[in-house]
Amino acid sequence: MTGHAASREHIIALSGGVGGAKLALGLARIMPSESLTIIANTADDFVHFGLHISPDIDTVLYTLADLANPETGWGRRGETWEFMGAMGGLGGETWFNLGDRDLALHVLRTNKLNQGATLSDVTAEMAHVMGIHVDVMPMSNDPVRTMVRTGDGLLPFQHYFVRDRCEPSVTGFYFDGIDGARPHPKLMRHLISRDLGAIIICPSNPFVSVDPILQLNGVRNVLKETSAPIVAVSPIIGGRAIKGPAAKMMKELGMPVSALGVAGFYKDLVDGFVIDEEDEASAAEIEALGMSVLITRTFMQSLEDREALAAATLEFAASLGKH
Ligand code: GDP
Repeated sequence: MTGHAASREHIIALSGGVGGAKLALGLARIMPSESLTIIANTADDFVHFGLHISPDIDTVLYTLADLANPETGWGRRGETWEFMGAMGGLGGETWFNLGDRDLALHVLRTNKLNQGATLSDVTAEMAHVMGIHVDVMPMSNDPVRTMVRTGDGLLPFQHYFVRDRCEPSVTGFYFDGIDGARPHPKLMRHLISRDLGAIIICPSNPFVSVDPILQLNGVRNVLKETSAPIVAVSPIIGGRAIKGPAAKMMKELGMPVSALGVAGFYKDLVDGFVIDEEDEASAAEIEALGMSVLITRTFMQSLEDREALAAATLEFAASLGKH
């Protein structure tokens, strides 16, 4: 993996949880660690039993540290559930699963936040102890909370996502706190830096994982101004989401449930869009939206798949050059 712009220029990857973390791992494995910054969505964060839980940051950290549970897509591998069992036995809420090992991170984070640390301080510290060498940062240190507009009313994201298993029909989203939230200062510094090589929008849920980052004050404007290429990888393959409610949300929002639909969502922002071989037939229509298209395998099953998609995406971005 030599010769692409990534070895000289800084890459910013915008990530949610499971899909984003897969590509982030691929990027981290093929790039010099000082050249990559992963920005994690924090609009899924919530407080449960008084604990500050950051699901997307944790999925990224666990994935990069090779601690993640590949079956669930969240939490840690080899987890035990004594705490949850005891909680249920006491009549406490059990709809949000907290494994024993995972719990240690939430307790430690909450404790550090209560002592005055910022979320990015804690994230950096946890990344360090987990042996992660790339920068992982929350999109903001200020609270932003996704609220899901549904046929059943307005639901906090985790109630919709976990408690109600994404069953309510979605009509829209609202990011509570977004107006007052400051994007992470290092994110803004990287975005205006001359060293910026590309911005990669990972194959994450466009509505609830990526949009909160894009809606932070100033981010969209800086992205529109930047001369660095912006490339998104489609989380939709053959009209389906690999995991999670992205496809269901698109249908309920009246959008085409396809890579084309995702490309339409990002069309004002991206220079390049990566689609799966399965979606080759829609390349021309996506190009007609005003972006270049790369067709490759985007389903990441193995570690090699993650590295190959990361390399192809970086090379594609480098080929788009400055605009
Ligand atoms: P969440 O916050 O845990 O829901 O995670 P993300 O928003 O990062 O990821 C959810 C999205 O990742 C879904 O829309 C999936 O379709 C997508 N995804 C998961 N695995 C893959 C994969 O291997 N390839 C691609 N292209 N998308 C994937």
